[in-house]
Amino acid sequence: EAVGVTKHFTVTSGLGAKATVHAVEDITLRLVPGRVTAVVGESGSGKTTLARLLARFYEPTSGTVRLEGRPVERPTGQEELAYRKAVQLIFQDPFGSLNPLHRVRHNIDRAIRLHHRGLSRAQRLGRARELLERVALTPADDYLEKFPHELSGGQRQRVVIARALAVEPRVLLGDEPISMLDVSIRLEMLNLLDRLRREDGLALLYITHDIASARYLCDDIVVMYAGRIVEMGPKEAVIADPQHPYTKLLIESSPDPQGDPDRDRDAVFGSADDLGEPPSLIDPPSGCRFHPRCPFAMEQCRTTRPPRIAVGPDHGADCWLHDVGRGHELAGSSMTQ
Ligand code: SF4
Repeated sequence: EAVGVTKHFTVTSGLGAKATVHAVEDITLRLVPGRVTAVVGESGSGKTTLARLLARFYEPTSGTVRLEGRPVERPTGQEELAYRKAVQLIFQDPFGSLNPLHRVRHNIDRAIRLHHRGLSRAQRLGRARELLERVALTPADDYLEKFPHELSGGQRQRVVIARALAVEPRVLLGDEPISMLDVSIRLEMLNLLDRLRREDGLALLYITHDIASARYLCDDIVVMYAGRIVEMGPKEAVIADPQHPYTKLLIESSPDPQGDPDRDRDAVFGSADDLGEPPSLIDPPSGCRFHPRCPFAMEQCRTTRPPRIAVGPDHGADCWLHDVGRGHELAGSSMTQ
C-alpha cells in the first residue's frame, strides 16, 4: 500500500546546475491479494518509479509504503530480507535480470536458498524443477543447465518469474513484464501471470503503457499522468466510461481492431500531431498537469490541482469537470467544453 507517496530526484546538468525531478507525487493506492491492479500511462508518467518505490529500491521523499498495514521504514537486515521475500519485482528486460554467467539452476537456487535455508542440495534441485514446471518450462531438466543466452526472451522471463516465486512472495510487481517479448507470446505470459495470481492469491501490480493488455489482465486500473494518478477504479468502469480526459485519450488511442484507430481520438483531441509531448517533470505544469494538452482546460485547471472526485463506486477522477455543480458529461460524443 502506498499512502501519499512522493519521490523527487535531484539531477545535475552538464554545467553543474541542480534541478529537481518531480517523478511521483502524492500516490495512494492499495494492492489486494488475488487481484491485479494495472498502472497505465505514457513513458515518463512515473510508473516505473512507483514500482521501485513499492519494491523499496527507492526511499520516498515523503509518504509511506505499508505492508499488511505496517509502515515499512527504511528496512535493513532481517527486515529488508523479509520485505524482499514478500514483495518481488519483475523487470522489463529478462536478460538483464539474470546473471548471464550462471545456469538457470543456479539463478533459481540462490533464491531458494534465501527462503529455505534448511534444504539439502537434492531438495533444492527438486524445488527448482517444480518452479520451472509452474511457469511451463517443461520438462524442467531441459532448462536447468542452460545459460540465459541459450533461452528465448519468453523463456528467460519465465525463469525470472520462477525465481521470483521461489521466495513465495505475497506481492508481485511487474514493470512492463511483456513489452520486450515477441508479440506472439505476450498472451501466453499474461495467462501465466493470471494463473499464478489465482493459484497463489498474489497481489499483482501490472505496469504497462498498453491499455489492451491491462484490459485483458487486470481487475482495477490506475491511470498515471506526469507523476500523478489522474483516475482509478474497477476496470469495467474506467475502460467503458472513462471520466478523465487523459484516460479517454489513452483508450481512444489504443488500436481498435474494428475500425479506424484514430477516428474517435481525433474528433476530441485533434490529430496525433496536435497531442504534444508529456510535460517535463523538472518544471511540471501548475494546477492540473494535463492542462496544456487538455481541450477542456479552464482557468481553475491552470492554477489549482483538482482533488480526487468520486464518479462511481470505487471510481475516482482528478478533474475539475466533475466538481459539484459543473454538470459536465465526459462520456462518449457528449464531451463538451
Ligand atoms: Fe482538463 Fe481541467 Fe480536468 Fe485537468 S482538471 S483534465 S485541465 S478539465
